[in-house]
Amino acid sequence: MSPVKPPLSLRGLSKSYGGQLVVDGFDLELEPGRCHGLLGPNGAGKTTTLRLALGLIGADAGTVELLGYPMPDQARLARRKVGVVPQVDSLDPDFTVGENLQTYGRYFGLSGKVIAERIPSLLDFAGLAGKADAPILTLSGGMKRRLTLARALVNDPDLIFLDEPTTGLDPQARHLIWQGLRRLIAQGKTLLLTTHFMDEAERLCDVISVMDKGRIIVRGSPRELIAGHIEPHVVEIYGDGLGEWSACASSFCRRCEQAGETLFCYTDDPEKLVAELEASQGLRYLHRPANLEDVFLKLTGRDLRD
Ligand code: ADP
Repeated sequence: MSPVKPPLSLRGLSKSYGGQLVVDGFDLELEPGRCHGLLGPNGAGKTTTLRLALGLIGADAGTVELLGYPMPDQARLARRKVGVVPQVDSLDPDFTVGENLQTYGRYFGLSGKVIAERIPSLLDFAGLAGKADAPILTLSGGMKRRLTLARALVNDPDLIFLDEPTTGLDPQARHLIWQGLRRLIAQGKTLLLTTHFMDEAERLCDVISVMDKGRIIVRGSPRELIAGHIEPHVVEIYGDGLGEWSACASSFCRRCEQAGETLFCYTDDPEKLVAELEASQGLRYLHRPANLEDVFLKLTGRDLRD
């Protein structure tokens, strides 16, 4: 029996624009039935990687296999079982919710009858039950995003690409999308997710690849990345007198970083530091376990990227 092919395999993938290497010769293989996160600051090359994976652009070097099909040559065949939630919603404002699903489903060669049968469960999944006849203009931002997710499922895909699926949404809408994504993972779908929300990646992803400057710099489960790349305790210090305190904070912790008005202290043993802060006047602090955002900032830096 031949081994099962990975849903997506990228080998030695490179892409340049105007002499700048945007994707710099990396390998990535997705495991089926898992949620994979692709994280990185702006300009890291995430969207270009997704576009290469989908065969929307060709690579300068390397190979892409999507659901076993070589890309971009067999993109049409591969995309029959792929769903895409793009960064920006591209719903047709002149159509209703149901008409949008119908139009999208037809791209995959599905009959009107098959799509019509799928619409109630897709809308139910997206928390939009009963909205089939609603014009797009009447939907909130969260509803539009959920409809875009439902639309990506119209062809019952095995692999779903999600490019920042919750950007611009309020916390309630984000939680609803997370619920939906967890249900897809439970159904055995493979997800490839880009996001700037580290809590989203930490909650949803089984495996995370952090990208910067076109390369993957680390890969692992959220827990592995936190355990392997950062001190376990973080004490955030802010308030009056931080200036004077910053100078001596390094004697209480392994690493300190100032970002704006907050001093971040990373340590294995926070006891002395916390006792000192308790005794100080004016300073405020938050002691918490290290998280994925701490790892991300350590690996990619705190400088603003445009
Ligand atoms: P990310 O999604 O991680 O923010 P992108 O893949 O969008 O990163 O972009 C990576 C780099 O490639 C950026 O510097 C961007 O300006 C550049 N880039 C992306 N697409 C094009 C294009 N079509 N033409 C020229 N430069 C591009």
